[in-house]
Amino acid sequence: MVLLLPKVRFGPLPDKGYTMPMSFLKKLFGGGDDQGQQKQGGLGDIIKQAKEMQQQFQGQTQVDYSTMSSGELMNIASGNMETLTGQKSEPKTAFVKKTTCHNCGGAKTLAPKTAYVYCDFCGSLTDYDFQKACENPQSAMPGPAYEELVRQTNADGALARQTKDRDKFYAIQERLFDRWVELCPNAVSPRAKKDDEYRKQLVKYMATTATVNEFDETFQQYAEQVKQKVMGIKWEGMFPKMTAESSTFWPMYEVVKNQLDHSFDVLKKEGVLDMHPDQAPESLQRRMTYSMFCQGWLPTLAEADSEKMIQEAGLKGEYSKLEPTETDLRHCGGCGGDLNTVKGGKAMVCEECGTVVDIANPEVNCTNCAGMISFPVGKNRLQCPYCKAEAQRMAW
Ligand SMILES: [Zn+2]
Ligand SMILES: [Zn+2]
Ligand SMILES: [Zn+2]
Repeated sequence: MVLLLPKVRFGPLPDKGYTMPMSFLKKLFGGGDDQGQQKQGGLGDIIKQAKEMQQQFQGQTQVDYSTMSSGELMNIASGNMETLTGQKSEPKTAFVKKTTCHNCGGAKTLAPKTAYVYCDFCGSLTDYDFQKACENPQSAMPGPAYEELVRQTNADGALARQTKDRDKFYAIQERLFDRWVELCPNAVSPRAKKDDEYRKQLVKYMATTATVNEFDETFQQYAEQVKQKVMGIKWEGMFPKMTAESSTFWPMYEVVKNQLDHSFDVLKKEGVLDMHPDQAPESLQRRMTYSMFCQGWLPTLAEADSEKMIQEAGLKGEYSKLEPTETDLRHCGGCGGDLNTVKGGKAMVCEECGTVVDIANPEVNCTNCAGMISFPVGKNRLQCPYCKAEAQRMAW
């Protein structure tokens, strides 16, 4: 899931090629300090700047990505999304993406609050909702504290790359992803919020993926090709509604697809896919990766190309109207929040705090405050979320 994140998300990654579209767009669309200047300058200046930008990329063998603000880039990406669709994205709660759990076969009936779709019956990660992910692109903005860390580790990262020091490179990635997960809790699964073990596994999975890709020669060759294809993209329309011209976009997409296929083969062989903290099936891990890529490019595509890309990437999804389901009210042992649970459910993820809650067994009253608690799966002791006293249940 971490191959093709826009700059922000693949901040720590070598990000050859993928940063390019965003930084290029930054010049095209304006953003941060440049914005006022571009508005005054009009299209001529924008094109001039874009050309300068291209020359800059062509002339440089080593681009210092660390000087670019990912927060700015993300702002622009989401700004464009609004401009292009003509609307601010609003949570779509009336529809639920049709999903059947690979683990228990249960059908999703409760509307998920995040893009991470967990099974109502067993708590497995069963899907990634692209539409939902696009609702809040800013959730992946890590801000200046992260930028600072990127700057600090930049030289060491380059050295590790040069000297082919895998362990050192990995250690840097681990630090960066750990910080990123901390700063962008809404960009990752809600399970990473309170579950330290989950979070550790997630960071390990992301840092390992980045390291494997970095030291894979074929992956790097593809990255170089992607970079070239991105340079070849022609832009149409006028600021701010500039779109990537179809016949120049798709060759780039093809290379990315090949790169991804290759990467997944390697990750599979090296056992990295098995490290996913949700034990997500390969097909789901692939879709999550494509989703990151598509989120970055969607604002720059014409409608027909957008449709096609979402279809090609397997992100189309079928949405059905949310049917009223009979639910039971329970109370999360992690945060004390209300949980609507389906009949016959065994475990579910609390989307507020990320706790995997046992809903197969009855709730327990806190002996101190009498509050109702559904215990986390596998736990018989916890701090009462209401009164902070220690609460326990009998072992089942
Ligand atoms: Zn399930
Ligand atoms: Zn909770
Ligand atoms: Zn209590």
